[in-house]
Amino acid sequence: MTETVEMTLKKSQKKAVEILSKLVSFPVLGGQSNIPIAEWIEKYLTEHGVEFTNVPNEEGNKRSIHCRIGPAVDGGVILSGHQDVVPVEGQAWVTDPFVLTDKNDGKLYARGSCDMKGFLACCLAALPEMKKADLKKPIYFAFSYDEEIGCLAAPELAEHIKTTYSEKPKYAIIGEPSMMQPVVGQKGIVVYKTHVNGSAGHSSGIRKEVSAINEAARLILWLEDKMNRLVAEGRIDERFSPPHTSIHCGIFERSGIAPNVISDKASFNWDCRVIPMDKSTEILAEFKAYCRDLEKCNQSKFLGFKIKTELDHSDVPPLDTPEHLSVVPLIQELSGMQELTTVAYAAEAGQFSNAGFETVICGPGDIAQAHRANEFIEKDQLNKGVEFMFRLIKKFS
Ligand SMILES: [Zn+2]
Repeated sequence: MTETVEMTLKKSQKKAVEILSKLVSFPVLGGQSNIPIAEWIEKYLTEHGVEFTNVPNEEGNKRSIHCRIGPAVDGGVILSGHQDVVPVEGQAWVTDPFVLTDKNDGKLYARGSCDMKGFLACCLAALPEMKKADLKKPIYFAFSYDEEIGCLAAPELAEHIKTTYSEKPKYAIIGEPSMMQPVVGQKGIVVYKTHVNGSAGHSSGIRKEVSAINEAARLILWLEDKMNRLVAEGRIDERFSPPHTSIHCGIFERSGIAPNVISDKASFNWDCRVIPMDKSTEILAEFKAYCRDLEKCNQSKFLGFKIKTELDHSDVPPLDTPEHLSVVPLIQELSGMQELTTVAYAAEAGQFSNAGFETVICGPGDIAQAHRANEFIEKDQLNKGVEFMFRLIKKFS
């Protein structure tokens, strides 16, 4: 009996490599249509007798997929992953990034092998066993698009799952690469773009005009000061590195035409990576209040002085799963790893958590490999991902 299970596992692990080589052959860069890969996955589901549901975008050129395997009862688990990947332009790839390459060094190379088609391959490779098993609790797949450009599809996908099924799934496991270590916390991220409209003029008249650059500089320093104030107020979460919310300006553009001309326009992009106890909306509200003050101060000199801030990258919420929730022992059992951790990268986990599912991140591969040239997944990690699926099937049978 043990031998049979062992053989089935080996077969599924081999299958995972085959499926992964298919999945990486669809480039699907974030923002692009994912229809070809979605169709391939849907065909695979159909061949295995699984009904699925699409969640298309408005233009109809992208879609998420979700499905249920097992009975329509409460308490199931959602296995979630994204179908898109990041670009390869400007990266020194040694092999074709869209061909899964085995260099016999224990690693499989391709864009998305690690982040995160490896996890999708583990789900799909274990599907025949999920179907065969007499599941008492259901397993759901939830495969999104446009994760890499701001986790755009996950909120709608999570809501769609809630309304499609009459029963209530309880857990969500986001298979981002974590070396199969359970992740219970994730920082949130949001990026804003701020535009400053000042008045132009000869540089000698700087005290009469409102320089957009000077005012933008004040705003950027206010943001840094805000971060420092948060730290000084003790808003610290030692689980993260750094253990505080970070605020930073990374792009400053359109700043003047000549040294002797006062610049009337400046804009800059800034990101805010919040620990779970902080709220990006509150930081933004405080920033905007400061902007209004600055406008009032300067409008006596130049009535058209304006500061406008817009969203540049969707507000991806943090994840903070309390350790007393039952998803924690579940993921420890399934992964075989007790130690919990947190990550600084953005993922769909906070969105699934906000939708009401007990959520953790846990998946094969190392995030250090993600988004780089010569991305790879260790075969051992992929094998562990399939073992994880087998433990889940056993647990739910
Ligand atoms: Zn990812």
